[in-house]
Amino acid sequence: MEKHLLSKSTFIRGVQCNKSLYLHKHRYFLRDRLSPEQLARFSRGIDVGLLAQNLFPGGIDCKPGSPRQYAKSLQKTQQIISEAAAKVIYEAVFQHQQVLIMLDVLAYENGSWNGYEVKSSLKISDTFLLDAALQYYVMKGAGLALDRFFLVHLNPDYIRDSELMLHKLFTKTDVTDQVLQRQPFIAQKIDELIGVVALTKSPEIDIGTHCNYPYPCDFIGHCFKNVPVGSVLELTQWAEEEKFMMYDAGTIALANIKPTTALSQAQQIELHHRQSGSEYFDTSGLKVFFYKISDAPVFLNLLSHRQAVPAWKGYKPYDQFPLAADFGRGEWHESFVNDAGDAPDERFFDFLKPLMAGGESVVVFDAVRFQELLQRMAHRHNNMRDTIEAFAVHIIDLQEVFSQVLYYNPQAGQDFSLLQLSKILFGNSQLTNLPFSSDALATDKYLKADKPLPEVLRQTLAAYSHGLQIMTEAFYYYLKQKF
Ligand code: SF4
Repeated sequence: MEKHLLSKSTFIRGVQCNKSLYLHKHRYFLRDRLSPEQLARFSRGIDVGLLAQNLFPGGIDCKPGSPRQYAKSLQKTQQIISEAAAKVIYEAVFQHQQVLIMLDVLAYENGSWNGYEVKSSLKISDTFLLDAALQYYVMKGAGLALDRFFLVHLNPDYIRDSELMLHKLFTKTDVTDQVLQRQPFIAQKIDELIGVVALTKSPEIDIGTHCNYPYPCDFIGHCFKNVPVGSVLELTQWAEEEKFMMYDAGTIALANIKPTTALSQAQQIELHHRQSGSEYFDTSGLKVFFYKISDAPVFLNLLSHRQAVPAWKGYKPYDQFPLAADFGRGEWHESFVNDAGDAPDERFFDFLKPLMAGGESVVVFDAVRFQELLQRMAHRHNNMRDTIEAFAVHIIDLQEVFSQVLYYNPQAGQDFSLLQLSKILFGNSQLTNLPFSSDALATDKYLKADKPLPEVLRQTLAAYSHGLQIMTEAFYYYLKQKF
């Protein structure tokens, strides 16, 4: 078997950027280090592809045990097809024109072979279609009489009953027509990318919007190393295209941008305060914002997680559930941790009841997730609906001070998270010393732990959520004292 030069992932990488493909093949050591958050994400999660195999029972698995065993898997796939040894093959391997692909499910149905690629998302993207088109091209080129090609993805309207119904959880979309339209592009791109792999030096490609689309490139550290601190690329109120247009035209330092009336108000504020280094407060706007908040508000933090595959009755794919939460004011606070790891709606509702009865404003740093979680709970439980709807009007989103441009802090750069703001405003103090450095890492610990949770972890998660609740309160009073 001729050694393959491209796979699905390197093909998609090359379509995004030739240089990224070249660096991946020849200068892999220049790759960015994975952050702890990325590492945590890669190392967990239910394998949706494996679950979807149950839609096609009785198949033979051709998945290679290691990258060295692809040739064996290729042979095994060919043998099963030629001997008609099975009607379903999982992880079927094909190669054509030095491109190797591995298809989630190949099924012999009504006298022909159909391909199924599984995606753990709720809808089909252009990249998925490109990926499907490549697989179709390789399978046809390898001589398979392939009929239809389907993308299998999660159904956003599926509501779980007591049992998980796989035929309802997954939607099979026939994308053969879109795949056929893309065949000339695939053929031309394979030639181009094989040429890129054969290059002896990196192609000259400048940084641009393609560095983050469709995926954040993992050579950003290398390619952006000459971008100076304080560049126009750090601005948050400009579209990516606009920033790269300025950058490409030679306006690199944001100190060189001239304020003009063509800029939006938010852009003028960001530019002025990035250049002067001073904080911005819209005192009259903040007054109006604070006017709608009751005199003695309660502060709440929520740590939640979205499950791709719903684990409990009434849940949809990617519905959130609370892992930990904390509300209070001053010395008083109440904690919630979903330590049992089962359906938490009733317990979470009971936890929130004192707030729901109180009628005080409830200030949350990022209320969008909290509101969405409550809304889904109200849908699942008729008996909670009226109470939740009455409660929802009391929730105040502290992030509105950014979306309404009532406050701006130039030191935050592009990170306006509560933890980052607290470190800037209050320093590295007891307040900002949390047991986890991000929600992603706290969530990872929770998901990987045995349930019921060990007591130490339960306490750590409670302390983390409480710490963020205190930060919400501190940030609220920091802003309030400014007018
Ligand atoms: S950072 Fe941008 S230019 Fe560099 S390899 Fe990645 S996509 Fe290409």
